[in-house]
This record gives sequence, C-alpha cells and structure tokens, in this order.
Amino acid sequence: AKAAGRNAISFFDPGMLQRVAASVALEADLRRALTLDEFVLHYQPQVGVDGRLAGAEALVRWNHPQRGLVAPGEFIPAAEDTGLIVPLGQWVLRAACLQLAQWGADAATASLRMAVNVSAHQFHRPDFVEQVLAVLAETGAPAGHLKLELTESLLLKDVAGTIEKMCLLREVGVGFSLDDFGTGYSSLSYLHRLPFDQLKIDRSFIQEIGSDSHGAAIVRIIVALGQALNMAVLAEGVETAQQFDFIVAEGCHAYQGYLYSRPLTVGQLAAFLADRPAG
Ligand code: C2E
Ligand code: CA
Ligand code: CA
Ligand code: CA
Repeated sequence: AKAAGRNAISFFDPGMLQRVAASVALEADLRRALTLDEFVLHYQPQVGVDGRLAGAEALVRWNHPQRGLVAPGEFIPAAEDTGLIVPLGQWVLRAACLQLAQWGADAATASLRMAVNVSAHQFHRPDFVEQVLAVLAETGAPAGHLKLELTESLLLKDVAGTIEKMCLLREVGVGFSLDDFGTGYSSLSYLHRLPFDQLKIDRSFIQEIGSDSHGAAIVRIIVALGQALNMAVLAEGVETAQQFDFIVAEGCHAYQGYLYSRPLTVGQLAAFLADRPAG
C-alpha cells in the first residue's frame, strides 16, 4: 500500500496489466461463444432421501474450441462482472426449459423438475419475470416443474422487489430454492417473508460432517429452520454413505451429490433415466 500510494511506477505493474488483458480477452471470448452457441448444459440428478428421483439441476459448461470443456467457476465470475451473465443466464433458462418440455412429453419423465441457477444481475433486471414467462410460453415447459435457484447475496438488494417477483412467478407455479444456504448473509428477520419452497445446504457444510468442525451442527440448524419456515431441505455435495446417513437422520428431504450421480451430459442422463423410473 505504501508503494502504491506514492510511487507512480506501481501503476504500470506488469502483473496487473496482464490480468487486465486476460480479462478483456476473456470477455471478448465469452461474447463470441454466446453468438456461436458454445455453451452446453449438464444435469445433476436431485433425489429424495427415499430414493425417488425428483429432477435435476442444470449446470452450464463452456465447450471451448481450444480449451475443451470449461467449468463454470472459470467463466461465471467474468460473466457476472461484464454483465454477460444476463444473456448467458437467458440462454441457460431457455435450454433448460427446452429439456424440461421434452421430459414433459414422455410419461416416463413427466414428473421430473428442472432446477436452474439465476444470478443476481439477471434476477434484478426489471423484465426478469416477463422473460421467464416468455421462455415458458415459447418452450412449452410446464411452469410447475421449473425451480429457480437464487443465492442469498441476491436477496440483500431489494427485499420487497424480490418478494414481488417471486410471488408473480409463483402464481404460474414456478418454485424457488435458496442456494448455498448458510454461506451468505441471509437475515433470519426477512427469510420468513421470502416464499422459498426449499433451502439448499451448501456443500461446504456437508463436507464437514464427521470431522470436528461445525458442519453437523449447521445441518441440524438448517433442517430445524426449514421445518419452522415450512421449506423442504436439500443437501448438496453428498459424496459418502456416512454423509448420506447423517442427512437422513437429521431430516433432510432430498440431496444431490456424487454419491448418487455426478452432473451428466444429456446422453448420459437419458441412459440414467432409462435405468431408473422417476417418482
Ligand atoms: P452450485 O449451484 O452450488 O452447483 C453445485 C456445484 O457442485 C456444481 O459444480 C456441481 O458439479 C458440484 N457438485 C455437485 N455434487 C458434488 C459432490 O458430491 N462433490 C463435489 N465436490 N462437487 C459436487 P459446477 O457445475 O462446477 O458449478 C459451480 C457453480 O457455478 C455452481 O454452484 C453455480 O454457482 C455456478 N453455475 C453453474 N451453472 C450456472 C448457471 O447456469 N448460471 C449461474 N448463474 N451459475 C451457474
Ligand atoms: Ca445451484
Ligand atoms: Ca448450490
Ligand atoms: Ca454450492
């Protein structure tokens, strides 16, 4: 800080220039990828603790011509910073709803629900509700089987406006899940006013089950909170039988994680579904 304040030369820090150049290049690459349709969705099954398949979460990947399949952690933050998350999120919603409409057309998959991640930027756009309704109408996806995953940070901005949007979408049957619960800054004083159907316990707490840390206690508290607020609880990132036994004993309703299935390509998902009747 001492050097940065006084010494003009630090402004020309080559490391910083490199980072700026890299992020400008990434932004241009993302814009190109959007027009060339390089994104794909993978689907991670979500399952009841009773073993009944409930649906899947759509998770975006970038099928990059040089880099291969790129994980969302490597481009979602840049998409957020540049506002490109809005068209990308719109693409994800539409692609997920097209898949959901396909499930609806087949009796074997008609009960499945689709969970879609929505970023703060996207949700707070004034036309968000209209956009979702338009995608539902255009794709023919059953609104009652669409679940939007919102994160806690999104709720900080405008509680009244958030409730209004959620209520408008709930009127047509769209459900809401509070993602990564416990990692953000949700205030218990307004959580009860937000019409969520489900709380998703973040993977970091599930990973701590069985160790000396507070993960197990936090799972317990979130389940109790869900009961009090009449919200179902889903545990994410369940990898081991021990974690599974714990979340069942504590009263979680559903889970997702490598124990049941990794995120699957559309082809892998079809094979998975053929083996397992949905409930
Ligand atoms: P998330 O919403 O918390 O999604 C769950 C992440 O945990 C996924 O990573 C999933 O592959 C991973 N996961 C699931 N089960 C397990 C497990 O048992 N063990 C481990 N180690 N990991 C597990 P992924 O696909 O890399 O996505 C990372 C994050 O990127 C997501 O976290 C979400 O925040 C964001 N993301 C993904 N797709 C979208 C999207 O379409 N829109 C937005 N806005 N964000 C997205
Ligand atoms: Ca999610
Ligand atoms: Ca999550
Ligand atoms: Ca998470």
